[in-house]
Amino acid sequence: MLIETHPPAIQELYSAIRKLKQEKDAVVLAHYYMSPELQLTEKDGGIADFIGDSLGLSVEATKVKAKHIIFCGVKFMAETAKVLNPDKQVLIPDKEAGCSLASSITAEDVLELKRKHPGVPVIAYVNTYAETKAECDICCTSRNALAIARSFDSDTLIFIPDVYMGQNLQQKIEAETGKKLILWHGTCEVHEQFTGLSMEMMKKANPDAEVLLHWEVPKETVATSFCEAKGVLGSTNDILRYVGESHAKKFILASECDLGATLKGMYPDKEFITPCFKCPYMKKITLQNTLATLQAIGTPDAAKYDISIPEEIMHKAYIPIKRMLDFA
Ligand code: SF4
Repeated sequence: MLIETHPPAIQELYSAIRKLKQEKDAVVLAHYYMSPELQLTEKDGGIADFIGDSLGLSVEATKVKAKHIIFCGVKFMAETAKVLNPDKQVLIPDKEAGCSLASSITAEDVLELKRKHPGVPVIAYVNTYAETKAECDICCTSRNALAIARSFDSDTLIFIPDVYMGQNLQQKIEAETGKKLILWHGTCEVHEQFTGLSMEMMKKANPDAEVLLHWEVPKETVATSFCEAKGVLGSTNDILRYVGESHAKKFILASECDLGATLKGMYPDKEFITPCFKCPYMKKITLQNTLATLQAIGTPDAAKYDISIPEEIMHKAYIPIKRMLDFA
């Protein structure tokens, strides 16, 4: 179990949410970056039906039988769930739950990149809005980005929008295949805060720790982190798996702070050190607004939470998302 005890107010919210989920035929999908109280499945006394990373949640969204999906994550993720499940009502507890990467690029920017580099395939990280995805060839998550990039015959690829993830991928892919990536200049405002200096200081204070780095951290941070230290650079899933397989007892985590709660829940005998940078967008989702979303289902208030995407964009965005899922 992720959290041992909950104050009575949280228990009351849990009960109210669970009751309404049943009454309204809804499921709750929650991302690993949610606050710990949202990262607890019903089975463990919480409210989520499934907790996962972007790819896990996309796959899970395709299996939902319930009429309504409450998406406890950020808006681009809820959009992906809607594209994959056009017949379901997908609701997000706060439509302001954005993402600095997704908002860094528009569909028009992609068209301009394609005009500048005709014929070059475009890989879109899932951290983009549906309108942007609609202009791309294939989507990827941090879990399958490398494999998808490798799979193209072309020796040049456009990768959007994360410049740091792109640089980290470029380093691996160029060494292996000589392929070049044309990058956009988006950044994740959480992961870019992990500097080489901050990693060096944490490593100095914890010389026995291994390092856990998400693809979205800057390239220089990766170089500093792996200097005289073991660890992993990869997706959220790679990080979770690495900790399970490692014999180390202490880890320095360079990713969203609440992934530390997930890790602690999964591996209670291990220690995780992090400066605790939280994603302000993910934290817009709370138990209170999740309850309000459920209460709104079937009333005019539901429009406040409802994810609706124009039909044409839905169809166009489905193609690169489906290609990604077929690849996984
Ligand atoms: S952690 Fe970064 S990439 Fe993820 S939603 Fe927040 S800003 Fe976007």
